[in-house]
Amino acid sequence: MRAVVFDDVGKVRLADVPAPALQQPGDAVVRVTRTAICGSDLHFFHGKAPLDPGDVMGHEAVGVVESIGADVTRFATGDRVVVAFNIACGSCWFCGRDETQLCDDFRNLGAGIFGGGLPGAQATHVRVPTADVNLLAIPDDVEDERALFVGDVLTTGVYAASLAAIEPEDSVAVIGCGPVGWFCAQAARAAGAGRVFAIDREPSRLALAESVGAQPIDVRERHPGTALAEATEGRGADVVIEAVGSTETFESAIDIVRRGGRVVVVGVYAGESIDVQLGVYWARALTVRFAGICPVHAWWERAMEEVRSGRIDPLPLISHRLPLEDAAQGYDLFDRREATKVVLIP
Ligand code: NAD
Ligand code: ZN
Repeated sequence: MRAVVFDDVGKVRLADVPAPALQQPGDAVVRVTRTAICGSDLHFFHGKAPLDPGDVMGHEAVGVVESIGADVTRFATGDRVVVAFNIACGSCWFCGRDETQLCDDFRNLGAGIFGGGLPGAQATHVRVPTADVNLLAIPDDVEDERALFVGDVLTTGVYAASLAAIEPEDSVAVIGCGPVGWFCAQAARAAGAGRVFAIDREPSRLALAESVGAQPIDVRERHPGTALAEATEGRGADVVIEAVGSTETFESAIDIVRRGGRVVVVGVYAGESIDVQLGVYWARALTVRFAGICPVHAWWERAMEEVRSGRIDPLPLISHRLPLEDAAQGYDLFDRREATKVVLIP
């Protein structure tokens, strides 16, 4: 089958690789109809996380179930499905508490040796372990492209907004308006936020956020702390969602939240560190909630309903639709931030 494989740092290519087959009785093989390039794929593309040459990339996909193992009960051949970006066992203590991102056997599609060695979804076919847990049926009235992001970034936005426990009239500031931040902004509005502020430094991304009702703040022109203070009688945002994953934006989140406010950290961190003056956090009575990886399985039914009802519209995010053959061009466009989201069509 054709698949997008890692070649070298900054280089992916289309390759012919063996088609996946059922390996365990819980497996399904899905024929991919749409797949996408995610910010997390760029970590591998940049060599920050290791992949071997020839590893199949990607973890965002929708498709049609082509074959199922004997233990699969919830899906049948021909079903339209979303694939979960993280693969959970569904039966450990953490999965039982809906904390599938903490699963004892946590794996990621297309994330190389440290992700459990599963081939990715930027291919004509993908094998999905424990399919009953890691697939979600797509309602008949939702097209593939609308459902695509329910497996990852859209549901991550819904999850982040939910962790923020948004109340009516809350002022919510989202730092970073990439796909994740953009969905956080939409989910915050859907959750009833009074005002949503979108903070970024890329005009195209700020414009996209503005199109879904957020008030844009370009950090190259305005200090976000000043802008938020002005908008909130000097207090700062009730809620800040940090959707970048840098020490700079984490510190900015702490800076712009009001006393007693909530900060939800959805951007990914690994080895970064900062000095924290505990007394400042303590005296300001801050709630800082690290989201971790989104436990997509616990949230994707709610997220799908947001899409089906139209409260969240994913389509404006897609700036490019390319055949799978043009994946290398897609990676370059997304990497240069010339694309807000690239969808690949196998
Ligand atoms: P992205 O790189 O497309 O978007 C990041 C945005 O932040 C960009 O628009 C960029 O211009 C902006 N930005 C960068 N530095 C900034 C700064 N100093 N001030 C203001 N804006 C700044 O990435 P994405 O796909 O939207 O993902 C965002 C983060 O969320 C990444 O860290 C990603 O790995 C993470 N993520 C987390 C989960 C999860 O489950 N927790 C899931 C998917 C992605
Ligand atoms: Zn992703």
